[in-house]
Amino acid sequence: MLEHLDRTSVIVKHLVLIGGGHSHAIVLKMFGIKPLPGVRLTLISDVLHAPYSGMLPGHVAGFYDYDECHIDLRSLAEFAGCQILMDRAIAIDLNKNLVICQTRPPVNFDLLSVDIGSTPATLSVPGAAEYAIAAKPVPEFLASWNQLISERQNHPQKPLRIAIVGGGAGGVELALNMQSRLGKEEGRRKREEGRGKKEEGRRKREEGRGKKEEGRKFRKFIIRNSFVPQRC
Ligand SMILES: Cc1cc2nc3c(=O)[nH]c(=O)nc-3n(C[C@H](O)[C@H](O)[C@H](O)COP(=O)(O)OP(=O)(O)OC[C@H]3O[C@@H](n4cnc5c(N)ncnc54)[C@H](O)[C@@H]3O)c2cc1C
Repeated sequence: MLEHLDRTSVIVKHLVLIGGGHSHAIVLKMFGIKPLPGVRLTLISDVLHAPYSGMLPGHVAGFYDYDECHIDLRSLAEFAGCQILMDRAIAIDLNKNLVICQTRPPVNFDLLSVDIGSTPATLSVPGAAEYAIAAKPVPEFLASWNQLISERQNHPQKPLRIAIVGGGAGGVELALNMQSRLGKEEGRRKREEGRGKKEEGRRKREEGRGKKEEGRKFRKFIIRNSFVPQRC
């Protein structure tokens, strides 16, 4: 029976969620709205900010900043009355009902939900591990994309060709938004270059004005000193 959480109710079951992505974010939201009495909730997640993939292409294009397209799992967990453990689950002991974590002691559970998303296999595709950047996990993808953008800013003349593998909705969205961002970066660079040239022109004009003023003062000085009325 679903009822609002009675904080004094006896804990009868410990539900552990592994992975703080889209699916479990919704679970947390629902628990916050309508808690299950007697259920203790724990989330094991290797990230504290879950990327919202629907907005990811827009983030790549520069429409949304990091906070706008990431879910703050800490505040969501707090809303759900859920304990959050930032760690990576590396094994499950089904005999002892334990989740084995990378850094902390095993976590016991009565019920377990595993939703750790998908990661494209790169090892089985020749050259992929060397050249490809998988769209998931998203944090790694964004780190590579941000690095590419800053390299582009430092070396704008260097030729760049990006190939997208996978022409589904995600691939097409990423391709269009990458193109849009790179175009924006190029526009920004040109505007900055134009501003730099304008600034240089202004500086030169001021320099010229300074020289003119110096010349005028010098001429005044010469004239004044050459025609000083002499007393006889
Ligand atoms: C570019 C792009 C755009 C997309 N756009 C849309 C869209 O518009 N609409 C839509 O419905 N779907 C979209 N998708 C698909 C959507 O991202 C997935 O369907 C969805 O993320 C699946 O949710 P999930 O909870 O299963 O996994 P995820 O959201 O991937 O979450 C898994 C989480 O588990 C964590 N994790 C992994 N391993 C461990 C571990 N061992 N221990 C602890 N934590 C772990 C990960 O860090 C991650 O936070 C898009 C995908 C991409 C790549």
